[in-house]
Amino acid sequence: MSPRSLALYDNCTRSLREFEPLRPESVGLYTCGPTVYDYQHIGNYRTFLFEDVLKRVLEWNGYRVEHVMNVTDVGHLVSDADTGEDKMEKGARRTGRSAWEIAALYTGAFLEDIQRLNFEAPTVLCRATDHIREQIEFIADIEKNGFTYQTSDGIYFDTSKQPDYGYLARLDRAGLDAGHRVDLGEKRSATDFALWKFSPPGEKRQMEWESPWGKGFPGWHIECSAMAQKYLGDFFDIHCGGEDHIAVHHTNEIAQTEARVGTRFANFWMHGYFLLCNDAKMAKSAGEFLRIQALIDRGYDPLAYRYLCLTAHYRSQLNFTWDALDAAVTALDRMRNGVFQLGEPGEVDASYLERFTAEINDDLNMPRALALAWELLRGGLPDATRKATLLAFDRVFGLGLSTWQPAVETVPAAIRALAEARAAARHAKQWAEADRLRRELHAAGWEMEDRAEGYTLKRQRVHES
Ligand code: AMP
Ligand code: ZN
Repeated sequence: MSPRSLALYDNCTRSLREFEPLRPESVGLYTCGPTVYDYQHIGNYRTFLFEDVLKRVLEWNGYRVEHVMNVTDVGHLVSDADTGEDKMEKGARRTGRSAWEIAALYTGAFLEDIQRLNFEAPTVLCRATDHIREQIEFIADIEKNGFTYQTSDGIYFDTSKQPDYGYLARLDRAGLDAGHRVDLGEKRSATDFALWKFSPPGEKRQMEWESPWGKGFPGWHIECSAMAQKYLGDFFDIHCGGEDHIAVHHTNEIAQTEARVGTRFANFWMHGYFLLCNDAKMAKSAGEFLRIQALIDRGYDPLAYRYLCLTAHYRSQLNFTWDALDAAVTALDRMRNGVFQLGEPGEVDASYLERFTAEINDDLNMPRALALAWELLRGGLPDATRKATLLAFDRVFGLGLSTWQPAVETVPAAIRALAEARAAARHAKQWAEADRLRRELHAAGWEMEDRAEGYTLKRQRVHES
């Protein structure tokens, strides 16, 4: 497919801009990855899913994507103000394992989940702890360029040295400073942040390294500046993360890279908006959160969650409810069955492909792209054309439509007998008896749906609504 006009919303200019790659051979994409002190929740996966869709849309447009994702396994402190414990050390205490063990455990869980959600694997997955040398070199250069100062607990970035600091988030720096005047500690401005933290005196941290400034560990933001530069160069195409990254993490990544390199960092800054639960942000720190495994335990296919995310634009928040997930299950089921029944694929329909491209190239408008898929599925084109075109769409949706097959569920004999008895009662117009048998099936955990001919039996999903 030849490249055509692709509009993406850039949070730095706060506008839709036409995407033009900086280099002909590939698009450089950096996405901030998981902090592996705990499992990721389905909110985290909403952001990662938006990034997966972005990557697929770039590929749809004919670009090769060099996708770099980091794994934060050190330095992300409990508070964004660079105070409090390292989340990794806290996670280690919570679980009774070492910080290194939990990093391995939760990275493994993350990799398993992204397969379940049918993500394309990143080209490079890089751990912060594997890049300590690069981070130290980065900080040394920033220091040489005059952007740092030392306090009793670390090396800090002096944001007052950068007139443009905070532009991405349109930060009100004076206002922030005024609000923090009393609790700044040794920091000179509220927006200054740690590049290197010293290990507390007399305390042996599980994760610590020697450096020119003393034993310690890197601040959270420096890993992304260092690894993005190492793998994608000084200036690359697109940098992504969740909306919470705008004000602090990405703002500080930009400051560091500009202080070292002297130029812009990424051409586009894109952010996925939050998944809410009962209208509040789903957060690991809140303790109560849903994992992909929790959905599976309740009988849900993780791809139904993928479908649910596709129904909302990535730049609007999405409130998670079980009813919404149930609706996604039904829709995905219908789409899978519908596509399956179309038989062998033939030629794609060029006009539908063009309309699809227009929707996804309009800042990844997946809700409209899905609506187009439904129009095509229900429309009058020959089966083989619809099949081929829908499978092409699925290169972006990532719903696994090409490999899906109806499951042959083994129904226990007793359940089958109940269902047969109910079908017979219905046939004999014994409605009260038919209802009673349906309730009995329900109590046994099965749902019976009547069809024009016969019926289907499905195991119920369980969840508290
Ligand atoms: P973390 O593991 O905390 O570093 O977060 C991983 C990614 O998930 C980051 O890009 C966050 O911005 C994003 N994120 C965190 N909470 C949510 C949420 N409730 N909805 C969507 N994305 C989120
Ligand atoms: Zn980052």
